[in-house]
Amino acid sequence: MIVAIDGPAGAGKSTVARAVARRLGVAYLDTGAMYRALTWLALEEAVPPSDEDALVALARANPIEIEPTDDGDRVRVTGQDVTAAIRTPAVAAQVSEVSAHPRVRDEVVAAQRALLSQGSWVSDGRDVGTVVCPDADLKVFLTASLQERARRRRADLRARGVEMDEAVVLEDVRRRDHADSTRSASPLRIAQGAVVIDSSELDADSVADLIVSLVEDVRERAGAQPG
Ligand code: C5P
Repeated sequence: MIVAIDGPAGAGKSTVARAVARRLGVAYLDTGAMYRALTWLALEEAVPPSDEDALVALARANPIEIEPTDDGDRVRVTGQDVTAAIRTPAVAAQVSEVSAHPRVRDEVVAAQRALLSQGSWVSDGRDVGTVVCPDADLKVFLTASLQERARRRRADLRARGVEMDEAVVLEDVRRRDHADSTRSASPLRIAQGAVVIDSSELDADSVADLIVSLVEDVRERAGAQPG
């Protein structure tokens, strides 16, 4: 069973996806964490975010390890735990440029498919339902207003000890929306057959309830099918 949850930055995907995974008793794959880990590595190695060849070489030489835990995914690169380091504003500022390169995406998507091919998962990102796993059992497009998404992103950062001005966070979210939805390789799109949920006025628990009930519907329908 694969549940794919896509949507723009700050729509609450990771909180909701983690909650749904916990409730279904399956693993959670944060696909954005893999692009962030590669961006972190590029910053460490002074590889410019514009250098596709060097980024592909970096990705090939340094597989990103994902270990699902109850608190979300633990992320390691070359054995080093980068779970916290990939959430810094420096990484956020460059990740959209890194993830826009088609051959970088090919590398990362191959790693994601290898993980998702084993067992049951809830996975979130920008292209899980459109590209990584178009045959997912349930596809959700989770969105919210720009203002609400910026507010949530700022609260997330604050919880991690990063204090940022409201206008700066709003601009970062707006810039990433634009970059993620206008790039030519796997732009952010509503997948065919996806259920669209606007979470502007819903808390994470209510959205998770809704998705779990959609999963139950899918399971019932699958169970009702002959053969
Ligand atoms: O989900 P998160 O905000 O952590 O993702 C960081 C960035 O990684 C996104 O802004 C996007 O540029 C990229 N990304 C992507 N495809 C995914 C997940 C994330 O291009 N499936």
